Amino acid sequence: MIKVCKFGGTSLADGGQLKKVCDIVLADPSRRIVVVSAPGKRSKQDTKVTDLLIDCANRALANKDPEPALREIVDRYAEIQRTLGLEAGIVAEIDADLRRRLASNRSHDGMFLDAMKAAGEDNSARITAAAFRARGVAAEYVDPRDAGMLLTDEFGNAQLLPESYPNLAASLGNRRGLAIFPGFFGYTRSGAVATFPRGGSDITGAILAAAVKATVYENFTDVDSVFAVDPRLVPEVRHAIATMTFREMRELSYAGFGVFHDEAVLPAIRAGVPINIRNTNRPEQPGTMVVPKREVKPGECAVVGIASDTGFVNVYVDKYLMNREVGFCRRLLQMFEEEGVSIEHMPSGIDNVSVVIREARFDAAREARVVARIQAEFHPDNMLVERGHALIMVVGEGMQYAVGMAARASQALADAKVNIEMINQGASEISIMFGVKAADRDRAVQSLYRAFFK
Ligand code: ASP
Repeated sequence: MIKVCKFGGTSLADGGQLKKVCDIVLADPSRRIVVVSAPGKRSKQDTKVTDLLIDCANRALANKDPEPALREIVDRYAEIQRTLGLEAGIVAEIDADLRRRLASNRSHDGMFLDAMKAAGEDNSARITAAAFRARGVAAEYVDPRDAGMLLTDEFGNAQLLPESYPNLAASLGNRRGLAIFPGFFGYTRSGAVATFPRGGSDITGAILAAAVKATVYENFTDVDSVFAVDPRLVPEVRHAIATMTFREMRELSYAGFGVFHDEAVLPAIRAGVPINIRNTNRPEQPGTMVVPKREVKPGECAVVGIASDTGFVNVYVDKYLMNREVGFCRRLLQMFEEEGVSIEHMPSGIDNVSVVIREARFDAAREARVVARIQAEFHPDNMLVERGHALIMVVGEGMQYAVGMAARASQALADAKVNIEMINQGASEISIMFGVKAADRDRAVQSLYRAFFK
């Protein structure tokens, strides 16, 4: 039984937080692999160490003095060393490590930046291992290079190379003590440091969980659990999600919901490793479990959560006898494909179809080209491009079996005097999507929340 625990930046922001991390890990002997982020924000106004490192690297690239930024970074680790009473030598080592990185090859900006960015996690792992050892626990910093964490050379946006899995399993599977692994980076085949996209320590944790076939991937952050609806839209929300399935998480996070990016945890999901989102500051809370499958008990609310996002555009095409024209949809979708625009939804009727896409991917020039092609190739009876849409997803595995879910949701929208512009039930039957005007979004979500959770 191995649990992989990943701690985010706020969990390592200072010595007090790192002490909590050690307490949490030591409370459960199956917590054997610990993945750490760089020290994050101690307060809203604070700066993450990763951002300080980026600033430091950019100053060096611009031939400006990096020294003040460098000292600020070293100070963050020095505070941790002092608070936990660790040996002072570790701070000198971190200082030397940063200077070595600063002096490294600057001929490739991306490569240099990644070498600097990775210092946050790397030194975080070294100091975390030291903190465990200071408590008499056998803990070892693991160098991703030695463990065979191999990535593509897409600096700042690297991806895992598949041979990493057996490497990592061999390196981490049978260790005696705790393995402390830095998140966010690995090495290219030619030995350069490469980082995942920002927030990438979640990816590292998911990869390690998959590699060692962990019983659970515990992702410790600074919230108790995932709420059924975004608390920014419904401040009184009290309904925490205890368990949701991978599919539910995906449907919810797709519409701007969630604690982490669903793509980041894909390796764990593919390997069927359950994910537990937990709070470092309140470890007694069970958090939210994300699992491959769950039973919906009789009487349980069929809806697990309500997600929403604004910034969608609807391209509506109407043509009499459209259903008889073979290849209509394919030709229409191809126009978007050739513009490099991915499709979010496509509700259709007998003579009409809507293509829903993200506004950010459909600028005025693309719109003009697509509209001209639709006019020229299809001669539609009517067509409209409507911006300013919001999508609301009502999600739950139980919805497949519950009767009247759409009726209840539509009634909630009617009660809030929100006009439904579009409805789409996904083929999975675990979600219903409503398209509404962006200006109606908040009211709509609040009313849906009352209908399903109050
Ligand atoms: N420290 C990195 C960042 O701020 C990675 C992470 O924390 O996950 O993006």
